[in-house]
Amino acid sequence: MKYLDLFPKTIKQAPAGAESTNHRLLVRGGFIDQLMAGSWTLLPLGYKVVSKIVQIIREEMDATGAQEMLMPLLHPKEVWERSGRWNKTDVKEIMYQFEDIRGREVGLAITHEEIVMDLLGKHVSSYKDLPVKVYHFSTKFRNELRARSGILRGREFMMKDLYSAHVSEEELFKYYEEVKQAYLKIFQRIGLEVRVVEASGGIFTDKYTHEFQALVESGEDIIYYCQSCDFARNKEIFNGKEGDKCPQCRGVIKAANSIEVGNIFPLGTKYSKDMKVFYKDEKGQDKPIWFASYGIGPTRVMGALVEVFHDEKGIIWPESVAPYQVHLVGLDLSETQIRIKAEDIYNRLQTAGVEVLYDDRADVTAGEKFADADLLGVPYRVVVSKKTEDKLEVKKRNRAEVEFLSYDELLGKLKTT
Ligand code: ATP
Ligand code: MG
Repeated sequence: MKYLDLFPKTIKQAPAGAESTNHRLLVRGGFIDQLMAGSWTLLPLGYKVVSKIVQIIREEMDATGAQEMLMPLLHPKEVWERSGRWNKTDVKEIMYQFEDIRGREVGLAITHEEIVMDLLGKHVSSYKDLPVKVYHFSTKFRNELRARSGILRGREFMMKDLYSAHVSEEELFKYYEEVKQAYLKIFQRIGLEVRVVEASGGIFTDKYTHEFQALVESGEDIIYYCQSCDFARNKEIFNGKEGDKCPQCRGVIKAANSIEVGNIFPLGTKYSKDMKVFYKDEKGQDKPIWFASYGIGPTRVMGALVEVFHDEKGIIWPESVAPYQVHLVGLDLSETQIRIKAEDIYNRLQTAGVEVLYDDRADVTAGEKFADADLLGVPYRVVVSKKTEDKLEVKKRNRAEVEFLSYDELLGKLKTT
């Protein structure tokens, strides 16, 4: 991508009212744009990052045997009445419910348990049809009270939600553990350090659920975790304080701010019983379906990454989700020879399969170009200028030192990371 073609360009000033780092840097970099409180456009750069996050999630979901599909966002009231949730206060508080011009009552998707249960009712009859593991990436609408914190809390946001249906509690928890491990792998690949935290189930379940909390100083959640083992609890269910002894291993409990990036819910047979969706066992008897749901917010993950990986100059993307691998900065481009060389490097890198953003502006100072490169946070900055002669000046976004490399040396470096 040539910078001159990129839409939109970077912005020098932080937007008014931007309280959080992700809001400030993602808007300035042209990754996202705010339409209204809690409602964001993923601009081309932001969409690239989110797409990479999505692809990592997709690969790990598929590896558990789950199948991707796509469900509607406009839901009839009737299906939500079957679970009894349409009129529940905590649902009404966040669900956009309205009557259309023909008097039909509908709601915008806050989650999809009811829709999946409805599907199971139509397509599962016997134990032979189970398990079912299906997921989708799509928009959720939630009328959040506080739609601040940039893209971390939208009123409309992207979620990956997986649903699994099983013949028994044992089978459900076996798969539940598999998904928990898949989630850990996802966050490891994305480069985000998370803790698996026990939490209460909110509007979903009376049982404990597991949240995946990224340790972030600016996070709005608080978790208590052990420094020596994997014990971790959400502040809502931990009755203790920092410095206490860990109930599991007698280590020391620490409190930390965090951002919830994922949440998995063992829902048991509640939805099956409430919505009267059963399967027939070997003896032909009706049995309730064991059910669980598993969410991750790719747009929130992008925001959380910025909260963790930035400095005073801008974003520092982990390589696995960066919008480009190389930010090629051409300097002295008014000189034909240098322009030809820069274009040649750009073309060769692209042919080699490297994703490159090429700053091809001729009327901008080196300082401005470097400032934009730091703001956008692409892992490798590669400079072509009079000074670099037959070499390339290479700098990693998270390092201070620069190296002068040949094209082949650069390519070798990119291929090994
Ligand atoms: P929170 O406790 O932060 O309000 P939640 O527990 O209601 O979130 P879930 O219903 O578990 O969220 O949703 C699954 C995932 O979707 C969350 O882990 C998070 O990554 C993402 N998510 C939830 N709400 C939002 C939101 N308003 N904006 C962006 N992402 C969200
Ligand atoms: Mg939650």
